[in-house]
Amino acid sequence: MKQDIRKLTAVQLKDWFTKNGEQGFRAKQVHEWLWKKSASSFEQMTNLSLSTREVLNANFEIRPLTVDQQQKSNDGTIKSSFKLFDGNLVEGVLIPALRNDDLDRMTACVSSQVGCSLTCKFCATGYMDRKRNLDAAEIYDQVVAIDRQAKENYDAPLTNIVYMGMGEPLLNYKNVLESVDRITSPDGLGMSPKRITVSTAGIAKMIRQLGDDAVKFNLALSLHAANDQKRDQIMPINESNTLEALGDALAYFYKKTGTRITFEYILFYNFNDTLQDAQELWKFTKRVPAKVNIIEYNPIAEANFKNTDPQTLDKFAGYLESKGVIVNVRRSRGKDIDAACGQLAGKKV
Ligand code: SF4
Repeated sequence: MKQDIRKLTAVQLKDWFTKNGEQGFRAKQVHEWLWKKSASSFEQMTNLSLSTREVLNANFEIRPLTVDQQQKSNDGTIKSSFKLFDGNLVEGVLIPALRNDDLDRMTACVSSQVGCSLTCKFCATGYMDRKRNLDAAEIYDQVVAIDRQAKENYDAPLTNIVYMGMGEPLLNYKNVLESVDRITSPDGLGMSPKRITVSTAGIAKMIRQLGDDAVKFNLALSLHAANDQKRDQIMPINESNTLEALGDALAYFYKKTGTRITFEYILFYNFNDTLQDAQELWKFTKRVPAKVNIIEYNPIAEANFKNTDPQTLDKFAGYLESKGVIVNVRRSRGKDIDAACGQLAGKKV
């Protein structure tokens, strides 16, 4: 089997070229084709000689993901099912957002694993098995494909990327950080890391690691309950990563990076939507500079949770705001095509 050329670092690529009697600067050209121009075949590398392209073809392959299916929601959201080289499928979503009738944001939501090993009770992916981690190129390719959709459908490039699709990004730490590097590097897509948010269900040890690695992107914690007993019920990862441990890890992350945390909170009807829950959330947010995104829930067939009602939501958000917490209420997008948060499960149309 030929080697996947995108698994080589720039240095390894250069070594390979010099060992094989090719000029070193060719490695830089190839690297640029792979990560800056997102080439999906050696034939596209037109500034390389035909013989160099043939040598590359004989030794390596590029494994681009392909769009298997694409669905457009009534609200303009586009969900794609991407096929990986081994036949596995993952999903990614383009979410265009308007402000005053103008396009304000073009957000790509990408997956980091095929399936997920965490079994959050409200999430469709949590009912699938985790099959494998995505490599950096597979995450990068989702961004490239969704950026292409943004340009084709809305004549605008991506402005933001969230790692909030299938999988727990911090359980695929190395590849996720490598993909961010390819997306943000001047030798790659050159996007600002401040436009990227990695969302975790809460792996305290890896949140600390992000701090030690002084990452420049944003971090979101899917909190959904600021009370261990309730959080244990909906997110079993909380049993080994308690709120106390997560709070300490987030404080450490903030100390090392200076980046404010985003807490994601779904208001489930009759579960975590009382004023006492709001009070617990407020107390937890005080541990670290943070803002709260309240996310509308999208019921899934596998579970019985329901979205709270608008009045309760207003009271909950109002309480937090009265305490000085920055609160955004995020309406759900792409519900009609199962593209909303927690609904990605590789369902065939
Ligand atoms: S919410 Fe995220 S971490 Fe939890 S099961 Fe779903 S994909 Fe996995």
